Amino acid sequence: MAVLPIRVLGDPVLHSPASAVDEITPDIRALVADMYETMDAAPGVGLAAPQVGVALRIYAYSYVDDDEQPWRGEIINPVLWMSPPEPGSPDPDDESEGCLSFPGERFALRRADHVLVTGIDLEGADVRIEVSDWRARIMQHEFDHLDGILYVDRLSDGDAKVVQKIVRKRGWGKPGVSWMPGVDNLEG
Ligand code: ZN
Repeated sequence: MAVLPIRVLGDPVLHSPASAVDEITPDIRALVADMYETMDAAPGVGLAAPQVGVALRIYAYSYVDDDEQPWRGEIINPVLWMSPPEPGSPDPDDESEGCLSFPGERFALRRADHVLVTGIDLEGADVRIEVSDWRARIMQHEFDHLDGILYVDRLSDGDAKVVQKIVRKRGWGKPGVSWMPGVDNLEG
């Protein structure tokens, strides 16, 4: 297993739809193992295959609430249904999210409160996940990655301008930019 470099906004693999997985091969198993290792090293609550440069419809998630069991798994070829998002502006305290492909930043985004995701896991077994709140946000965020959408693509006009400034300042927004969990410090 290995920690993989994480692609940053501007890399084409992040901005085009990923392809369905036809068959769970040893290569796919190795990829998912590396995705877990990369997600944990980052650390992040989710990681989609395009973020490590692989244009396939796979994501992993890992989230722990204070006093709950870890909630963790992978989904291959997911299908997502969601409740309509509440109208109005997002609350920056409760509705901000970040992305390993736009590292070190957070922005508020209104999401659907409730989702149902179906797909298969690495064993080929059916997966059915029905979740709310933060877990629903993670599912929507990771699912978007498989369609070539980053959460910053969904922000209000004002925040989108801030995003553009950050992209220029950091030299993102072009192919081939990545960072290495455990090696690069992105908060500075
Ligand atoms: Zn992301």
